[in-house]
Amino acid sequence: MATLFTAQCDRCDFNQTIAARTNYAYRLPEPPDVFLWTQFVWCGECRKIVQAEKLLTEEEIDAWLAGQWNRRIRLDGERYRQIIVGRQSPARCLTCGSVDIVAAKSGEHVATVLHGDCGGVVSLNRSGSARIEGGIDVYSAEGEFIVGVLKQYCYP
Ligand SMILES: [Zn+2]
Ligand SMILES: [Zn+2]
Repeated sequence: MATLFTAQCDRCDFNQTIAARTNYAYRLPEPPDVFLWTQFVWCGECRKIVQAEKLLTEEEIDAWLAGQWNRRIRLDGERYRQIIVGRQSPARCLTCGSVDIVAAKSGEHVATVLHGDCGGVVSLNRSGSARIEGGIDVYSAEGEFIVGVLKQYCYP
């Protein structure tokens, strides 16, 4: 299930519904694929709100793995750390690959992101959930789209 958000600008009539999908993964030379963390951003190329990579810091990875005893998740976390340590490119838009992105900020109740077209503030409100069909989109360790595969991803 993906969570749906409604995005609305406070300065113009821009509005959009967007689903927070979790079926993205990185592919390293050795399997298995690695969970890809995402965030909502304004993409300067797509001209809309999209999901982009969220590149966790090593501290955030430590916090995620602290007290985590599931072997699969621990393996995933350590492989994700390899990606972060070797990473050259900044976070990319998962739709078009652009690095011209502005991350949404999470507030107390809603997340907000600067509307690149008008300079207003877009609020993202949770508006429901939806079943998203399809498999996993697979990316390189530098965040470049490789292939879509028919397999469901289920963690973390
Ligand atoms: Zn606007
Ligand atoms: Zn884009």
